[in-house]
Amino acid sequence: MRLSSLGELLAPRRPRVEGANSSSWSTPPPDPELGVPVPFACAYDDGRASLALLNKARVTQCALSRICGVCGRGLDRPVAFVGTAVEEGRNAFHFPPLHAACAASLVAVVRQHDVPLPGQAEATDPVVVTCSGFEFVRPTAADLDRRPVFTPY
Ligand SMILES: [Zn+2]
Repeated sequence: MRLSSLGELLAPRRPRVEGANSSSWSTPPPDPELGVPVPFACAYDDGRASLALLNKARVTQCALSRICGVCGRGLDRPVAFVGTAVEEGRNAFHFPPLHAACAASLVAVVRQHDVPLPGQAEATDPVVVTCSGFEFVRPTAADLDRRPVFTPY
């Protein structure tokens, strides 16, 4: 095997996902209503950005490229998930994995403004779960809820 192809094999996987571009995420746009920086997973390449949005393409990108749903940078350990008590009870989260510090800042914003977590319909007190890894579970045709979920372990 040539050294160059070995390098390609060892390089981090960065799958191309439509509508998901983390390269310019150094300056997150502000939420139009709250004025706070919008998490990476809550914005679209066309400029839409709001804490009330959850961009499915970026959720998938975070899962496959193992990048943080708030800052868009590579994840390390521990991995943190922010969700509702129901999500914690099911061990199935909808918001992508985060750095622990990014999880804390997202929780602080949601609590301060009393808004739902991105992708949730109702404002509930968020919970943070930390773990060493996760599985990304895509829905099947039989699932009523067609959103992918993250299962921490
Ligand atoms: Zn982060």
